[in-house]
Amino acid sequence: MAVEPFDAVQLIGAKRDGGALTTPQIEWLIDAYTRGYVADSQMSALAMAILLNGMSRAEIKDMTMAMVASGERLDFSGLGKPTADKHSTGGVGDKITLPLMPLVAVFGVAVPQLSGRGLGHTGGTLDKLESIPGWRASLSNDEVFAQLAGPVGGVICAAGPGLAPADKKLYALRDTTGTVEAIPLIASSIMSKKIAEGTGALVLDVKFGSGAFMRDFARARELAQTMVALGTDAGVATSALLTDMEVPLGRTIGNANEVRESLEVLAGGGPADVVELTVALAREMLALAGRPDADVEAALRDGRAMDRWRAFVTAQGGDPYAALPEPRETHTVLAPSSGTLLTQDALSFGIAAWRLGAGRARQEDPVVHAAGIELHAKPGDVVTAGQPLFTLAADDAARFDRALEALEGAWSVGEASAFAPRGPLVVERITAD
Ligand code: URA
Repeated sequence: MAVEPFDAVQLIGAKRDGGALTTPQIEWLIDAYTRGYVADSQMSALAMAILLNGMSRAEIKDMTMAMVASGERLDFSGLGKPTADKHSTGGVGDKITLPLMPLVAVFGVAVPQLSGRGLGHTGGTLDKLESIPGWRASLSNDEVFAQLAGPVGGVICAAGPGLAPADKKLYALRDTTGTVEAIPLIASSIMSKKIAEGTGALVLDVKFGSGAFMRDFARARELAQTMVALGTDAGVATSALLTDMEVPLGRTIGNANEVRESLEVLAGGGPADVVELTVALAREMLALAGRPDADVEAALRDGRAMDRWRAFVTAQGGDPYAALPEPRETHTVLAPSSGTLLTQDALSFGIAAWRLGAGRARQEDPVVHAAGIELHAKPGDVVTAGQPLFTLAADDAARFDRALEALEGAWSVGEASAFAPRGPLVVERITAD
């Protein structure tokens, strides 16, 4: 048996006592953990020490690149066109990837969007797309390359098991040991997958507020700065937008209903906040990929983005004209009095949609594609007594009680003078220093 160069207990002790790990130590640690030599119990202790004591920029970079090296690294340099991708830290009603990918692809910038499924109250892009009859999330690397090179010029599919396998193992462990929240671990987890994916440019949509993974603005900014530095160091042109996730994005939360709303955006309409964020992220991706002058609004207005969407759905086995699943049961909540809708808490609405069946509690659970929530009013809207405020949708009416429980205190109608308008949706742009 080969002699191991380091000892896991020593490394745990070093981090526990506030020390820093060297590049060879981190490379060994991630490799030995992937091989099963470092035990889950040891890695949990180390993750907790990192959560409590942090990591230097050099350590985070080493951790990220060691996780990239644990699997395959895709290379799109032979495509003959630039590549750009977007990663969102996850939100409620966040369907932006659906209109964004075809919109960017219209301008000759290939979009390799390798996505995951939703877990908890934030929805997953693949779950939304799977409500389209026939649409297929699994593509081989050759299929991904061919779709990027060809007339579609973009792909949204499941990230294969070969990308950053060390992260898959470590993320599952963090999930069960209270160590998800460590910024060095979140940043290295997200960026190892994006660097391994092989994109040339990357825009991060880092959300803060009630429905966001990182509720606190200062921590969201620190995460964004850390990830932008990691991407830049790895040769990926990276920037981040810090965006508000205090209220749900758009008027739909779920799967099939979010596809419908995305189609409205692709047809030149749709809710103002969804359009604003789609356009902002598209501009950012195109600028990083060398197309700063692209007129993205024109491509939404004149049908080019919609044509590209239909080509994308068809290429992955779906029927872009097929009817989307409809719910069996609905329940509409009415305004109890006339006034102004004052609040609409993103986290509570996300949890309610999850309880209706739109999300999953365990990675292997199925989702109900027609389940979710439609919002008929947004904060600041004037409402009259008896007017529909939102509609819950499910396959089984027994789900409504638990969803309504999640929504207790999550919205209110009152005097217009009590309404506190939110600040801008895109609060800050972060670039490499
Ligand atoms: N998403 C990831 O991929 N990794 C994390 O650590 C957190 C969110």
